[in-house]
Amino acid sequence: MVAEHITNLPSSKSSGKRSRTQMLVVHSAETPLAAGYAASVTNNWLNRSDVEASINAFFGPDTTVRSVNTDHAAWHATWANGLSVGYEFTGYAALTRAQWLTAAGKNMLDRAGREMAADAKIYGIPLRYLTTAEVNAIANGNQTIKGIATHAQIDPANRTDPGAGFPFDVLMGAIKRYSGTITPPPASPQGGTITPIQEDELSAKDVAEIKQHINALLINTYTSNGVKNLPGVRPILVENQKRMGALAGKLDAQTELIKQLAKGQGVTIDYAEVEAAAAAGVAKAIADGVDLDATVTIKKDAQ
Ligand SMILES: [Zn+2]
Repeated sequence: MVAEHITNLPSSKSSGKRSRTQMLVVHSAETPLAAGYAASVTNNWLNRSDVEASINAFFGPDTTVRSVNTDHAAWHATWANGLSVGYEFTGYAALTRAQWLTAAGKNMLDRAGREMAADAKIYGIPLRYLTTAEVNAIANGNQTIKGIATHAQIDPANRTDPGAGFPFDVLMGAIKRYSGTITPPPASPQGGTITPIQEDELSAKDVAEIKQHINALLINTYTSNGVKNLPGVRPILVENQKRMGALAGKLDAQTELIKQLAKGQGVTIDYAEVEAAAAAGVAKAIADGVDLDATVTIKKDAQ
C-alpha cells in the first residue's frame, strides 16, 4: 500500500450539496498515467473558472487530489452529478490492462481504493459495479439502487471512459482491502508478501456453541440457553454404569434366592450368600476398569 498523500485543490464549481448519493463514478482523465498530472490538470484546467467541469477527487500515482467537496455535486457526469461522487484517474480510456497495471498505475489504483472505500462507507454504497440496466434504472428515477459505475454507462452516447482495459477487478480489490472486507497479506521478512492459508473463520456465536459442546462432554454440569446445571455426558455415563452394576447385582441375588428356594419347603434362606452374590454381580459388571461405587440393597424381609 502506498502512503496516503493528499493534495487539496478546492473548487466551488458544484451544484451544491447532494440530497442523495447512489453512485461512485469512475472516469479516465485522458492524460498520461504518470506523476504530476492529477495536480496539474486539476489546477490548470478543472479549477479554471471558465471551464464547465469539475471533479470530487483526481487520482494519480503520486497523490490524491481533492477538489470539489465530497458532499457536493461536481460537474462530471451530466444527469448523474447530483447522485454521485466523481473520480478522475490519470490515464487514457484506450489503455490496455497491462498499461493500467504498471507500477505507477498500481500506486494510483491503491490510493483510489483508499479514497473510494472511505466514501463508500460514508454514503452506504455497496462494493460492487452496477450493470448498465441498473444505471439506466437510476437515470429513470430509481432511488434505491446503489453501486460503482463508469462514465461510459452514464453518458454512452459520447463517453467511453475509463475504457475496456481498465482493471476494474484490481480497483475493487483495493477498495475492499481498505474497507476492511479483505485482510491485507502481511509483509514477509524477505520482502514481497505472504499468502495466508485460507481458514474457516469462526463467529463469536460458533465459538460459544463449540464451548457448550465441550462443556457438555467434559464438565459435570453446564449451562445452555440460561438453564443451569444441566448434566454433562460424564455424570450421565457414571449414573448409567451404576445402574447397570446394581441391576447385575440384583439379578445374581435373585438367582441365588431361587437356587436356595428350589431346595424345598422349610429351607432357611442364607442372606449372607444372597448378598455375596449381589456384590459379586456388581463387581463383575464394573470389572472392566470403570471406577464406580455401585451398591445394591437386598431387602431381608423378602419372602
Ligand atoms: Zn469521464
